Amino acid sequence: MAERVVIVGAGHNGLVAAALLARAGLDVLVLERLDRVGGAAVSTQAFDGHDARLSRFSYLVSLFPQALIDELGLDLELRSRDTASFTPWRRDGRAGGLLVETSGGEATRASFAELTGGDAEFEAWKAFYDEVGTLARALAPTLLQPLPHIGDVRDHVEMAIWTDLVEQPIGEAIRRRFADDVVRGVVATDALIGTFASLEDLSLVQNRCFLYHLIGNGTGEWRVPVGGMGAVTQELARVATEAGAEIRLNSAVDGIDVSDVDVTICGDGFVERADHVLFGAAPYVLERLLGHSPTSKPAGAQLKLNVLLSRLPELASGVDPRVAFAGTFHLDESFDQLQHAWSVAESGDLPPATGEFYCHTLTDRSILGPELRDAGAETLTYFGLHTPPGVLDAPGAKEEAVKRVLAALDEHLAEPIEPLILGLEAKTPTEIEHELAMPGGHIFHGDLAWPWLEEGERPHSPAERWGVATAHPRVLLCGSGARRGGAVSGLGGHSAARALLDSL
Ligand SMILES: Cc1cc2nc3c(=O)[nH]c(=O)nc-3n(C[C@H](O)[C@H](O)[C@H](O)COP(=O)(O)OP(=O)(O)OC[C@H]3O[C@@H](n4cnc5c(N)ncnc54)[C@H](O)[C@@H]3O)c2cc1C
Repeated sequence: MAERVVIVGAGHNGLVAAALLARAGLDVLVLERLDRVGGAAVSTQAFDGHDARLSRFSYLVSLFPQALIDELGLDLELRSRDTASFTPWRRDGRAGGLLVETSGGEATRASFAELTGGDAEFEAWKAFYDEVGTLARALAPTLLQPLPHIGDVRDHVEMAIWTDLVEQPIGEAIRRRFADDVVRGVVATDALIGTFASLEDLSLVQNRCFLYHLIGNGTGEWRVPVGGMGAVTQELARVATEAGAEIRLNSAVDGIDVSDVDVTICGDGFVERADHVLFGAAPYVLERLLGHSPTSKPAGAQLKLNVLLSRLPELASGVDPRVAFAGTFHLDESFDQLQHAWSVAESGDLPPATGEFYCHTLTDRSILGPELRDAGAETLTYFGLHTPPGVLDAPGAKEEAVKRVLAALDEHLAEPIEPLILGLEAKTPTEIEHELAMPGGHIFHGDLAWPWLEEGERPHSPAERWGVATAHPRVLLCGSGARRGGAVSGLGGHSAARALLDSL
């Protein structure tokens, strides 16, 4: 008889694990509490009467290794954007914008020169990202292998960049390497997407977040899934089902009992027995289902907006909005603004808006119905930083936060945004927790870990070697909370599947 595996959660990671294990001949059942698959990787028609299917939560892909896409046989297009980022600025009565092209050409150099008055910042930028690239290229090939040892990674890079990224708060390196507050902020945001911390935090949680944002496929490029995130999930569900996995929706697990010989999984109206459980929701949720009282609950800090516009707004700088919004559009994310927002939120108050927009439809119009497409409609998504539940849950705080985002955007526009809005939805971390069971709305199920074995760490089992172990050998983590699982990467699911197969 084939080993029986129950996977809790049909998030994209659970689906990756299901496909790999079913293909290996195991008997796989996926239990999902919602009436749909995909967890945080889904497309939704968010606005009644408007045929637009937006990536409701996650929206860009970088960390999903191409080798895993190929192995799974996913029919998936991830499209590059010409603009990596655009940061509108106002200085001395002038409105401008710092453009960073994906290929980093002459327009990027000119844009740095216009903001900073010379080439020094652009050269510093190039040197920094060249050095970061050496670490990215060293790490990327390890992501589909058991965890590398820290020393094996460190040996591939110069000590200077290792120290800057891995050994001291990233804020220090950013301040030393760059002089301009706007440039510093553009670098810093990668340390904060999904992480509520000061750039100077001694825990280095922000450094780990930065690293994950820069290592995808060795380039760190964030690409647009054509058809939206729902297309990623649909493909994963297709290959899992074709491999023979059963996916059961509306099946919330409310208890897990582990014995020496098997695991019992219970929910409303069902009891399942399995040889192994792969857990695709957060480790905090697992603790509760095992009957333990977890000590600390993760908390996210993002305000997520999805917006449908009749058209893009004109910018005060006169820059073409089709260029500016095609990549990450940094809204008031200078280094000082980020640090100020963090300290305001840390003291329990609602900070000024600081976050980033991007327009999916400039790269892929297939998510719009023909009417909206022909009428020139566009979508915007916003990921606001430094707005934790303790701040956003106060009465009226969410509405005020949305108002501040729109007002801050207006400061950089030649016309107000409000008349262009056909639909807008806002989601706080607490609302995301209610919808997706991500504790505290933490987008990675908990703080990110370094993607390697620490000095002196000796793994004793395949589960430890792959970074998916729990206190019970029959229960493995297969979601974002696995050692390298954060983001839409499939890595949690892949690592858990490999660990289980290695142990049989
Ligand atoms: C607003 C937002 C924006 C983001 N943007 C990006 C982005 O652009 N790019 C990126 O790479 N990442 C992004 N992320 C992070 C990324 O979406 C997640 O890290 C990733 O989707 C997690 O996938 P997963 O499969 O591990 O878990 P999840 O997607 O959380 O799936 C877990 C599944 O388990 C189910 N479940 C939970 N409890 C139970 C239970 N008791 N019984 C049965 N089923 C259960 C849930 O319903 C869910 O379907 C974003 C996340 C959010 C919230």
